[in-house]
This record gives sequence, C-alpha cells and structure tokens, in this order.
Amino acid sequence: MMLFITWNAWSQDHELKSTVEVYQDLKELQRGLRVLYLAAHPDDENTRLISWLENDQHIRTAYLSLTRGQGGQNLIGDEKGDALGVIRTHELLEARKVDGGEQFFTRAIDFGYSKSAEESFEFWGRDEILHDVVYVIRQYRPHVIITRFPPTRRAGHGHHEASAILAEEAFVLASDPGAYPDQVAKIVTRSTTSLYHNSSSWWDKTLDEMTEEELAAKKIHRINIGVHNDLLGLGINEIASLARSKHRCQAFGTPRRRGVQSEYLTLVKGEWTDDFPVGLQGVWSQSPSHAEGIQRMIDAYEFTDRAKNRELMHQYITPLLAQRSMWAESRDMRYVQETVAEISRQLTGIRVEAYTDEAPSVLGSSYPVRIEVYNAGNEINKIKFGAPVDTYIEIGPSEMVELEAQMNAPDQASSPFWLRNPHEGWLYGIDKEKEIGVPYKEEVSLGYVISGKGMPINATTTVHRRWNDRSVGEIEEPLAFVPFVTLTPTVTSKVVRPGDEVELDVVLKAFESVNGLSVKVETGEGVELVEGDWPAEMAKGQERSVRLKFKINDLSSLSTVSFSATAEGRASDQAQLVIDYPHIPQQFIHNKASVNLQPLDLEFTKGKKILYVEGSGDEVDDLLEELGYTVYRTPLNELAPYELSGMDAIITGIRAFNRNEELAANMQVINEYVKQGGKLIMQYNTTYDLKVEQMGPYPLSLSRDRVTDENAPVKLLKPKHPAFTTPNKMGDEDWNGWVQERGLYFAGEWDKAFEPLISWCDKGEGAVNGGLVVADYGSGHVVYTGISFFRQLPAGVPGAYKLLVNLIEF
Ligand SMILES: [Zn+2]
Repeated sequence: MMLFITWNAWSQDHELKSTVEVYQDLKELQRGLRVLYLAAHPDDENTRLISWLENDQHIRTAYLSLTRGQGGQNLIGDEKGDALGVIRTHELLEARKVDGGEQFFTRAIDFGYSKSAEESFEFWGRDEILHDVVYVIRQYRPHVIITRFPPTRRAGHGHHEASAILAEEAFVLASDPGAYPDQVAKIVTRSTTSLYHNSSSWWDKTLDEMTEEELAAKKIHRINIGVHNDLLGLGINEIASLARSKHRCQAFGTPRRRGVQSEYLTLVKGEWTDDFPVGLQGVWSQSPSHAEGIQRMIDAYEFTDRAKNRELMHQYITPLLAQRSMWAESRDMRYVQETVAEISRQLTGIRVEAYTDEAPSVLGSSYPVRIEVYNAGNEINKIKFGAPVDTYIEIGPSEMVELEAQMNAPDQASSPFWLRNPHEGWLYGIDKEKEIGVPYKEEVSLGYVISGKGMPINATTTVHRRWNDRSVGEIEEPLAFVPFVTLTPTVTSKVVRPGDEVELDVVLKAFESVNGLSVKVETGEGVELVEGDWPAEMAKGQERSVRLKFKINDLSSLSTVSFSATAEGRASDQAQLVIDYPHIPQQFIHNKASVNLQPLDLEFTKGKKILYVEGSGDEVDDLLEELGYTVYRTPLNELAPYELSGMDAIITGIRAFNRNEELAANMQVINEYVKQGGKLIMQYNTTYDLKVEQMGPYPLSLSRDRVTDENAPVKLLKPKHPAFTTPNKMGDEDWNGWVQERGLYFAGEWDKAFEPLISWCDKGEGAVNGGLVVADYGSGHVVYTGISFFRQLPAGVPGAYKLLVNLIEF
C-alpha cells in the first residue's frame, strides 16, 4: 500500500469538482508539462495565453509576479501601499481561479513607477530577487518560461524590464548547481527547455503580416488562442476576459472577446520546438506504459458516472504508480502524486467542509468548528480525522455526517503572512527558507484520510467562516483572528502646528464583551493629552468612536502617539483594517495602534470653503478637512449656483476627469465660476478615456511625463510666484522628505495663458515643466498639477502641504 502525500499549493478547496473539471485535471496529468509566465505586477500577465495553455492545451501554468503591486493606483477605494498589495494579490488569485493557473510572488516590494531595471535593482538588490526567481523555477520545475516584456528600455516600466532580465539570468542559473547552493541542497536544480518572449503585434506591427515560414525563420510561434472549449462552454478568450476583469482596482474590466486572436512567442533561449506546444516532451516521454494507462482511462472516461471513473483509476493508473521506475525518483513525481491524489479524492465524491461562525475569533480563546462530511459517491467510505477532531466515521452513499470540535485561536492577530514582519528595505520580511513564491496562506487546515476501495487518500480542508444572510444566501470568508478589542485611529499621520489643539479620533471595537477597560495613551515630549473619555464597558460587536484632544506645546520633529488597552488580564495594542470587497475574500490587517504627528509651521485661513469633486478615490479632501478647511463633496449636478459661487476653490480629485461624468456636464458652469473670481485646481488625470473635450477654460493636453525620484532636484521657474510665497514662503527644505515620486501625468502642451512654475527631471532625463501650470482666467485662476499630493499629504510631507495650501489661498 502506498500513501499519497498532499501538497499545500494544490487544491485545498472543499467543493467537489464536476466530472468535466476532473476530466481537465486528467488531461493535465496526461500532458505532464508546466509553463511559468513571468512579469512584474498583478495585471501584467497575459490571461489569454494562460487560459489557452491551461484549458485548451492542458498544460499546468503559473504566473510569477515579481511584486504584489502595492505601489500602483487604486480605482475602487482608498487603500494604498501594503493594503493595496493585499487587494491586488487576491485579484490575481481570483483571476487564476477563473483561468485555472497558479500564482507565485518574489519578495520584491512595488515601490512605484521605475524608469529603469537598473534603478529597480538598486531598490531591491539584484541578487536577492534573482535568488527568488531561481528558487521559484527550481521549485515549480517548468518546462518552458515565458516573459511578458523585453529585457530592454522598450519594456517601459523599469520593473517590467527587470522581470525579463531576471528571467533570462534565472533560466541559466536554475540548472547550475553552483548557483545558490543552499537551494540546491533542498530542491535540486532545474533545467528548463526553452525561454520565450510573449511578443505582441501591439509592439511589432509586422508580426500579423508575416507568413508561417517567415515567423519560423525568426523563431517565432504564432498561436490562435481564439478557440472554443466545448467542455467548458466558453471560448478561451472569453475565459481570459473574465480572468482579466478580476483586476478591478486597476480598472481592467474587459468585455468578453470572441474570434481569432493571435499570440506570438519568440524564442529567447534554449531549444526551439517545431510544433509548439504539442512537440514538447512531458513527464511521460520516458515512460510509455504510464502514458498508455492514462490514455486508457481518458478513452473510457464517463461524464455521468463518478464511480465508474474511480474504477478506471484503480484499474489503469494506481497500479502503475505503485511500480517504482527510474523516473519515479524524479522530482516531477511529486506533481504526479498530488494530481493523482486530488483526482482520486474527487472521484470518491467525499466533500469535507470545516467552518466556524461569522464573527472572527478572539486571540487566546477557543472557537467551535463544525465539520460537514458528505458522500456524493455511491460507495461506503471510511474517514479518519486527526486532532482535534479525532474521529473515525463510515459514511454511505448520499449521507451527510456532522462533527464538532473546539479549536484554539493563536496569540497573533490575522494579517497576510508577508506583512507580519517589517519590510527589509524594499523586500518583504518573509521566511527565506519556506515562504519564497508562496502567494497566500490559510490560517488553519484540518487533515483527514479517506479509505475505501483502493489506497488511502490523504487530504486537507481549510477552516473558514460561514454563515447565512437571508438576502444573499450562504457566505464564506477566510478565518480571522482578532484581539479582544482593537483601537483604530482614523488617520495614521497628521500635520500639527505648535500651539495648536488637535483632535484625533480612535475607533474602539470590541470582539468580546469588555468590563473594566483601561486605555493608555502614550505621547512624546511636547504633546499633551487634554481630553479623551474611554468607555469602561463595551458589548461584544460594539464599536465606539472616541475623540481625543491634544495640546501641541512644542514639537520640532516627528512624534508618535500610541494606544493600548487592557481589561481583565487581556491586552491589545492593535489597530485593524478590514479589506472588504465583493470580488475578493475578506482580509484583516493588524498593526500597532499609533498616529504620527508631523510638526508643520503652516499659515492658512481656517474655514475656507472647498468643493472637492470626487475622482477615483484619494484622501486629499479628508486631510484638508482635518487641517481646518470646510470641505464640500456635493455632486456637481446637485449644487445650486449660489452655493458654487460661495466656494473659495474647486479641487478635482485624482482622475476626476477620467471618472466623473458630471464634470463634463458642468464644465461651462465651472469655467464661468472661475471667470467670476473662483479658483479651479485640477489634480492629475490620465490621457486615456478623458470625459471632457477640454479640462478647464484653456486648451491643455496631458502627457505621460512623470518624475519618479522623490528627491529629484527642483528648479522654480517663477520663484516669486505667489504659489511659492503666499501665505507660506517655501524654502529649500520644503522639497525634502517627499515619498515615492514627485508627480505623474504632467501637462504636455498648454495654452499660452498658462505659466509653468516648476522644472525637474529624473536622473539622466530631460527636464519636464508641466508638473504645475497656472493661468489667470477672468478674475480667477486655474491650476493643473501632476504633483502627487494624494501620496504626500497622507504621508504628512510638510512641503506638499504648504504648496497645496498656497495654491488654494494665493
Ligand atoms: Zn506592470
């Protein structure tokens, strides 16, 4: 008897697959091939090619994204940085659920736009990321690697260029026992057959015109992925569109495309295969008897008879696997065993689901787990559960057995595993031995063994939360562990003026009923807590917002206020962020509860009225309100003319002209408002999909110019302009301490009425002047700026505050 080993990355889903899905798995077992697609960000991957390889060619395909995309934009909410990386990670995982691929990551942190691979390597450490890419290749053992980008500046984004450079180097190094010998000791080397670049007629227009002979001469394959899959009832390109549409925070919703669609693969390194991918040699090329066994099972496969397929499995495949042969020693056997175990489990018809209630479980407590065992097959099966269930059951056809167990919550609150330790520079601080490549980790799984006819099958099922909502039905979310109470400040940093009294709001949430709550607020020198009433008791599930007042006496540098709570022997110093969107699983992030106070000597007129026109989501409006301005967010269509004329400024949120249909409808009204003495400040918009013919009263075109170095030298073109002097005189120090970038999507060309105020550039590039342009119009002013206030203000950058306040007030 032989016991199959299960592997965590393979399906842990408790749901039963249809016989069509099992058939697809069987075809994948037969092909015995793997492809690794490699690029830099969540959304770089070509879901067309992945869908085709997986679903049409039955080749196991994975996407290695260097980063989790935390430096990008977010078009569906306010999350930035690490929280955005969590959203994009799960969007990728959801996309892979649709196209059938797998997902891997390196430790690289997306630090925002990069102008060259060289710069990216400076941030990450070239050797560190190369280590990770080699590791994933050795671990996944692909036969073919495909890159999305060329290894040159043509790739655009420096991360893109870096991904192709790393792929080429790792392709060679993965098979070299001298490269990263510590890895070799654990997971051996891997020699990959070929490396292709997924070229596109978008870059090279001549590809579509070339004949097959011309393409072959240049070592390029043309593949029509626009085929229909009768088993799935969908075209491959339709599956690809559905997968791509999961990248919602990147606004990648895509119509379902049908019809012929060419993809191109250009050989970069390794062997050329004439008939790609049919001509590739999979795992069974060394073992015709096994290939024949699988073929027999496929020939006899019944789509309406799970039990018969289980018989076929016993008859044709399992005996062969029990025979040791030369190739059975190979690392590829792991895949074979996992796949066979998974197919076998599916064919038993045994479904094991383990779940607890809707409410997250409190650290250190125990929580109930219900286990539903259902036998959809037509044979009796015996199932043995290990601790803490510790039970052995027999279950007949169509029976459902319910079991219960108590499990103990851990003592660390839930956070994605890559955020549990502080970043190490621009790398995630994860376990280099065990966590490289891992996309996501479930909190808790239960193991069980099915035995009936044939050999026992080891399997696991993930414990999750499950409940019923009468307006939705059954809802499933990942398990979450939380402190007994969380203390979540509504801001993580705040600019303050010496002498001011400032308010901070902290949201207290109790996950258990609490008596005798005591909250400690720690401040640095020069900051004094003058008011704050915390509740002593809270009911389970209750949320209370507490307003605290601080007197800023004397503060010359950044100071941190931190919060911690105790009650009846329990303690918590954790703030909580819940990421909750319908298209991804709910995620909890826990951090130390604290607020950074950034001293800032800033002049402004308290109470000035600002109309903020919503774009695709930023916090600039909230932070201006925090500062002391009166911010209105009334939709333009609902705003009476007298209300508009009472505004001191209209500020458009980031990408408002790409998103907000009401701006187009009200452009004339806004221009008239400016003419009568108003002020219009437009933050950056992208060139794609502008909703208006003209932004503001004068012609102005957008470019893709950006300055990505947050320390890029600044040259003021009009140093005496009131934007730099009124009411705040800006000095050299105000351009220090910026984060991620100076700005993006600068004005490209502008009407002569505009004056450019700033000139700057990244290393080795020409100066760009469209970052801040200002014009008079009637007795008012209009401003377009690509400066990334939406990043600087939340980070508490004093100079950015001064500049924006000046733009509002001059
Ligand atoms: Zn990208």
